[in-house]
Amino acid sequence: MRTLVVEDERQIAEDMATSLGAAGFAVELCQDGEDAWYRGGTEDYDLVILDLGLPKLDGLTILRRWRAEGRNMPVIILTAREGWSARVDGINSGADDYLVKPFQMEELIARVRAVLRRTHGHAGPVLS
Ligand code: CA
Repeated sequence: MRTLVVEDERQIAEDMATSLGAAGFAVELCQDGEDAWYRGGTEDYDLVILDLGLPKLDGLTILRRWRAEGRNMPVIILTAREGWSARVDGINSGADDYLVKPFQMEELIARVRAVLRRTHGHAGPVLS
């Protein structure tokens, strides 16, 4: 499972990469909104974890552009606790699930597996 983690807060990004890697996922990190939009539009990922607050291009804009371009990979968005309207916008823009910061890595892995079950029809992580 090839996963793109888009998060500009370095510690959170590294924690996610460590946990996802231990769970068997191949993880690529990205900290910049424009770079994330480009990579998600040109590379094939099995899953994207997308923070909404990013430098250069915000996560909601990235997600809307991907969906408008026909990119259908599963996307889990990361939002701030007070950001309920961003969560609604995110789901309406094509997010498959969301996580509210701060979250436990166990919850991240559980939600990733649940999204992959729904979208790929199996539990993962299966390296392909
Ligand atoms: Ca951020």
